[in-house]
Amino acid sequence: MRRWATVVLIFNLIIPSLSLAAGEPALVGYSIRASQTEREWETKFRAIPDPSNLKEYMRRLSARPHHVGSPYDKDNAEWILARFKEWGLDAHIETFDVLFPTPKIRVLEMIEPTKFTAKLEEPAVSIDPTSNQKSEQLPTYNAYSIDGDVTAPLVFVNYGLPEDYEKLDRLGISVKGAIVIAKYYHSWRGVKPKVAAEHGAIGCLIYSEPHDDGYTRDAVFPQGPMRNPDGVQRGSVMDFASASPGDPLTPGVGATPNAKRLSLKEAKSLSKIPVLPISYGDAQPLLAALKGPMAPDDWRGTLSIPYHVGPGPAKVHLKLEFNWDSKPVNDVIAKIPGSVAPDEWIIRGNHHDAWVNGAEDPVSGQAPLLEEARTLGLLLKQGWKPRRTIIYAAWDGEEPMLLGSTEWVETHADELRQHAAVYINTDGNDRGILEMGGSHTLEQFMNGVARDIEDPETKLTAWQRVQLSRIAEAKSADDRKELRQRADLRINALGSGTDFTGFLDHLGIATLDLGYAGEDEQGIYHSIYDDFYWYTHFSDYDFIYGRALSQTVGTSVMRLADAEVLPLDFVDFADTVQKYTTELQKLISDKQEEIRERNQELDEGVFKATLDPRRPTVAPAREEVPPHLNFAPMQNAVEALARSAERYRQALSNRQATLDDNQAESLRALNQALMQSERKLTNDDGLPRRPWYKHMLYAPGVYSGYGVKTIPSVREGIEQKNYAEAEQEIVRVAKTLEAESALIDSATQMLSH
Ligand SMILES: [Zn+2]
Repeated sequence: MRRWATVVLIFNLIIPSLSLAAGEPALVGYSIRASQTEREWETKFRAIPDPSNLKEYMRRLSARPHHVGSPYDKDNAEWILARFKEWGLDAHIETFDVLFPTPKIRVLEMIEPTKFTAKLEEPAVSIDPTSNQKSEQLPTYNAYSIDGDVTAPLVFVNYGLPEDYEKLDRLGISVKGAIVIAKYYHSWRGVKPKVAAEHGAIGCLIYSEPHDDGYTRDAVFPQGPMRNPDGVQRGSVMDFASASPGDPLTPGVGATPNAKRLSLKEAKSLSKIPVLPISYGDAQPLLAALKGPMAPDDWRGTLSIPYHVGPGPAKVHLKLEFNWDSKPVNDVIAKIPGSVAPDEWIIRGNHHDAWVNGAEDPVSGQAPLLEEARTLGLLLKQGWKPRRTIIYAAWDGEEPMLLGSTEWVETHADELRQHAAVYINTDGNDRGILEMGGSHTLEQFMNGVARDIEDPETKLTAWQRVQLSRIAEAKSADDRKELRQRADLRINALGSGTDFTGFLDHLGIATLDLGYAGEDEQGIYHSIYDDFYWYTHFSDYDFIYGRALSQTVGTSVMRLADAEVLPLDFVDFADTVQKYTTELQKLISDKQEEIRERNQELDEGVFKATLDPRRPTVAPAREEVPPHLNFAPMQNAVEALARSAERYRQALSNRQATLDDNQAESLRALNQALMQSERKLTNDDGLPRRPWYKHMLYAPGVYSGYGVKTIPSVREGIEQKNYAEAEQEIVRVAKTLEAESALIDSATQMLSH
């Protein structure tokens, strides 16, 4: 609370003194004159992106299936390359060879108590013209599942999360030697077979429950946008969060021709048990054949069956074999050299590969990227000269698990550590509210951009629409107060699941991940029905949000590329780290309270008293109450960080009036320091047991996958009851924050001289 008051005060005192004649404040990191010029160029930019172009790019890129290694994937890469060149950009394709398994044998059958063979097939729909491209479609499967041939009783495990297995323990049910069936969602899919294997299961099925993305929510495709009974969610189950994303055979290094490769046996990130995704059409007979206890209330879906847990009597046979082939991934890279600071890079990417036709994922994000590139090409011809170098990247191989971006990042790691200032990612786009995720040093910057973008439906600014929709959804008066009073809206911390992972988590490059979403229900994710027909009937069919995304990201790229001083800010950042520290303290005290209470209930006989002998349950085990942890090193470091951040913001404000291009040399040193500010948040040794992940503040969760764990080594230490480790990690995080404060202080000094 106190710090926000300070923020508001500084805004009120400083910004008006820098106001332009028109009353517009100077952009952060810009001199008044440069700010004016920048705004003129940005206004020109935002007038150009054209929805009809976006539609044509989508029609072209999604016309045929274009997964890794397919003919049309390569064709698309070459087409994108030709467009970049046509628009005047210096572009090339960079190719890596990666392990990409495709199915050879897929069998799923129930052998007891009745016989049933799963269809494992998404049929063509006559009204949808690309759904019949059977010879080019990848079958439904989970990439990087191991081969396997298993027969066992079936157990229903809800979403297959660690807490679901605790419930199963209470029901007295073990999955040892069983095949589990889990629902999609509520975690990244690869977590489900991982946790199942840790509990002794020998196979895993994942199905799309109609309650989550089927008929419960809206009409099913092709009448509506939702998943039909045969629709299947393909997807990767590579265990990237415990090991690393990218090619499983070249962890940590680029998959170039001469790279040393592991054997398939040595690869750490394959699943431990065979996994297969299925439709609810195929899942229903299996679930209907389960007996045993009723599933807990909140596990049940909306199929017209009683949801039992098992085990059995349904017994299933699952047989999977894959072609373990190497395939090329083709990244398309375009470059606009910087005029003043060519060795400072702003990088912007979206993937171009899909599981099948992929109109929504990824083309609805790739099309705006192309329109930005075309527009920047036009501005260059009109005389715009970006100060920094801009790199546009159309990644390949994102779907199998960030192959193209990770291999590129690993190949160019040294250059990127030196030169990369910011990476901006998108991955698909729909209608609705601007979703802003990223490094908190970019929070103030991103708020500034969102204030300059018009929301196409409401004509409010994108920023206002985010603020008002968050107020509508806020759960407490405190949250609403913050939304009304804090200068900047908070941006989300980033987990993983898309191409920023290598940039942020491995190298420590400040990152943004952007997209519009929230208004359209969809049940076609990773199916053959995610195509041009679906998108142009059920999503942003007039492409006005595609244009808004081009405007949002294009403005961000230009503003970052042209600023005299990189517009990073540390006040919001320090405030966020403070918030995470408080959350961690609450996490441990909640845990203590929960275990104390449960132990007391065990003493009181609560579990015995509530036992229904016809539906027996098992009392939980008594646990030791977690120890208190010493957060003092982190608390001290965060307070110092907040002071450094305030001093830097003040110094930048003071200096802003006298910034100009003649100071290029002194600004160079300052910008070099600022570029390292995210790098300083990494640690060479990485996180415990996963050294590829080097960022000390953000990481995907080992048991959440895409979901972020902030201050991950401390948070996961507590969650996984590794308290001694959590306490050591508090010290390591504190040291990281101290180093960050020192860097900010040195930047402040440079500004003041
Ligand atoms: Zn995607």
